[in-house]
Amino acid sequence: MDVISFEKEFINLPSPVQSLEHPLFEKYGVEVLIKRDDLLHPIVSGNKWRKLKEYLLIAQKQGNKGIISFGGAYSNHLYALSYVCNSLNLSFDAIIRGNELNSTSNVYLEQMNSWGTNLHFVNREDYREKIAPIGVITTNKLIIPEGGFSEIGVDSMIGLANELENITFNHLFTAVGTGTTIIGLGRFLNQKTIHGILSLKNKSEIQDHLNQTLRNSSNVIIWDQFIQKKYGKKNTELEQFCIDFKSHFGFEIEPIYTGLMIQSVFQLIEDKYFETGTKILLLHSGGIK
Ligand SMILES: *Cc1c(COP(=O)(O)O)cnc(C)c1O
Repeated sequence: MDVISFEKEFINLPSPVQSLEHPLFEKYGVEVLIKRDDLLHPIVSGNKWRKLKEYLLIAQKQGNKGIISFGGAYSNHLYALSYVCNSLNLSFDAIIRGNELNSTSNVYLEQMNSWGTNLHFVNREDYREKIAPIGVITTNKLIIPEGGFSEIGVDSMIGLANELENITFNHLFTAVGTGTTIIGLGRFLNQKTIHGILSLKNKSEIQDHLNQTLRNSSNVIIWDQFIQKKYGKKNTELEQFCIDFKSHFGFEIEPIYTGLMIQSVFQLIEDKYFETGTKILLLHSGGIK
């Protein structure tokens, strides 16, 4: 199957935009909308399809037989890529951080294994080099950087930017991993203010990525004050926020990315960061798997 047929058949484009009602929004006089990119696909959800599309088109054009990429044992990027490669009949080598792991270490790795992905577990020093380990054939394969960050990943966000173009809003908020999503939005929606909520202590990396890829990044605001002390582990307040969110709004967010981003926006609303009448657009970047 080719990339465009896969998109037409399986990716629910364009994703809907919903208006959210909450007493807090009423109290502070703000309007809140959410772009439901989590509904694009149950597995290749959120920004993952957005980012991968351009790479997959390149692989197709070049006639590549396979893909190589990098990530951690819980990487949404590798998980989505594993599923897509299986559907597109591309071989996939996933280079995974942590040589103490194996294909049964968690359900995601097990699933990737069952989708035919070749899992390669490397120690942390070797992982840092971001090169395919000895024994992995690299000829005629496309290497996608960790999390999909590169000019290609950034340019790939044009599809989402086009869908957002006709929505009226003052501030757009997104979660940040590698920054590919926010940088792409910063590039293609350069008249809008785009906020990124960092989950990881990687502000300098994001700043480097911004400097590498955006000539003018004055419309992009990076927030690092909401980073949780225990990334990926239980944080009861945030976990509870996600549970309450689901019971109030009727759909799920996960704590690491979207949950933290939305909790931070709630905090900013309470802190009167926004003037009355402000329209806030949240990007639900997926991550539910
Ligand atoms: C991967 C991921 C992100 C991070 O996106 P970047 O483009 O790397 O910044 C954000 N939210 C969710 C749900 C993700 O899975």
